[in-house]
Amino acid sequence: MATPLEWNDSAFLREVERRSGTPVSACYQCHKCSTGCPVGPETDFSSSQLMRLIQLGAADEALGSRGIWLCASCEACTTRCPQGIDIAGVMDALRILAVERKVVGPQARAQHFSSTFLGSVRRLGRVYEMGALAGYKLRSGALFEDMDKVPKLLKKHKLALLPKKSGSAAEVRKVFERAEAEGKR
Ligand code: SF4
Ligand code: SF4
Repeated sequence: MATPLEWNDSAFLREVERRSGTPVSACYQCHKCSTGCPVGPETDFSSSQLMRLIQLGAADEALGSRGIWLCASCEACTTRCPQGIDIAGVMDALRILAVERKVVGPQARAQHFSSTFLGSVRRLGRVYEMGALAGYKLRSGALFEDMDKVPKLLKKHKLALLPKKSGSAAEVRKVFERAEAEGKR
């Protein structure tokens, strides 16, 4: 569950706006974003509800939401918003803050998948599926889930046994470093 956070109400709103570069405070709850969201039926808080939680400074609820990890970054919400709010960017900011603050929500497995996937891309410049799969299983505890699919994937050459570094690995690493440096500013 969410850990206590030190922001006061307006500080949380300001921090999310700073990280996402978009005016969450301009949201007037028209719900256009959430009516077009493909993962809406599966979430606890819809995108418009999350905007309201942020405005109210409800950091524990927003960062502990299942919705931020189910978000597919499709940007349908951003396109529909009459206030020009980049809601998909807000979702990114909430995920980053949740990881930084070590908030483990009800969708912890999505967090494990995301960090394992990004760790692989950071190291090799591309994802090493077998390593990411093993890392995800160790972190999530879902050791034997879907293992019956592995032989078929290997047969179809969808899983490489050994990692292969991308020729652009150094550039990709710089992108991660730049993003981290910007996040700290
Ligand atoms: S970006 Fe996320 S929140 Fe927005 S519509 Fe797509 S899935 Fe829903
Ligand atoms: S579409 Fe924009 S203004 Fe409307 S609820 Fe969503 S974020 Fe708020």
